[in-house]
Amino acid sequence: MCPVELRQGGLCLAGTGLWLDARRRTELSFVSHAHRDHIARHHKVIATSATLRLMQHRLGEISSAYATQYNCPFSLGAHQVELLPAGHVLGSAQIRITRADGRRVVYTGDINLAPSLTAEPAQIASCDTLVIESTFGHPRYLFPPKELVLSQLEAWVRGKLQAGVTPVLFAYSLGKAQEVIRFLSAQGFSSCAHGSIYEIGQLYSELGVPWERVRRFDGPVREAEVVVFPPQLSHSPVLSALRPRATAVLSGWALDGRGRRCRSADAAFPLSDHADFAGLVSYAKATGAREVLTHSGFAKELAQALRSEGIEARALGEPLQLRLL
Ligand SMILES: [Zn+2]
Repeated sequence: MCPVELRQGGLCLAGTGLWLDARRRTELSFVSHAHRDHIARHHKVIATSATLRLMQHRLGEISSAYATQYNCPFSLGAHQVELLPAGHVLGSAQIRITRADGRRVVYTGDINLAPSLTAEPAQIASCDTLVIESTFGHPRYLFPPKELVLSQLEAWVRGKLQAGVTPVLFAYSLGKAQEVIRFLSAQGFSSCAHGSIYEIGQLYSELGVPWERVRRFDGPVREAEVVVFPPQLSHSPVLSALRPRATAVLSGWALDGRGRRCRSADAAFPLSDHADFAGLVSYAKATGAREVLTHSGFAKELAQALRSEGIEARALGEPLQLRLL
């Protein structure tokens, strides 16, 4: 029997009432991190305390929550449950469920294996069955080293400022924006962040991540400031008033030009908080899983790549293929 079920509203651990990042309100759900496509106002939530804090900032008070730390197993009915860092955004977690029969099932949530300036480093979750996200699970997504992308971004920002142009960066308001602002601050730049980014940055600060050389955007931009806004506000009139300005999208999708095309930006940098194709394949191997279930993004392509390496893998929702002898 498949250990997880793909239902309307999300994934569910088979034979239990435990949902995994359900998008609709459920009785009990594990929440891997606080991005909007992973949260809902569930009756009961299992998450790290950082994720709960960020989630409640976005949704309001959650009535019943089990806030846990990484690597602290606890019992849930007949199962043992443990959260491990996923390296995606602050507080992001994988969940490992050890069933009564000893079978270990891991659900990664969004995962990133490259070092992050603001998220806890991902930990390899050894298991028998791995349920892995496949956002960039196509062989065409191979990201350059993060240090290289960041140094190119720094050179771009520096060049614009020296030319008297205000750099405007578009980065997701939870995770990517805080990481890039921390990087800019370490390089001596000052940032001016949209309120949504600024408020989450303050929460990051309360959770122990430095939040320096940054102020909340309030219209006029001071000399030598870098503006950071969420991508969905790229056409905001308040940005149009900034002249001269140059815009850049920070996204893994920049690799195939989607970022630049979608937002009509002047530049795009492939800065991702997801693992790339090679990272997903190597992670799946490192867990030692005998069975891999891929889901979301390029699930079919990732499953096929894993099968070609001799790993039993399939995209969730695909029928189990009979093996020909
Ligand atoms: Zn995410």
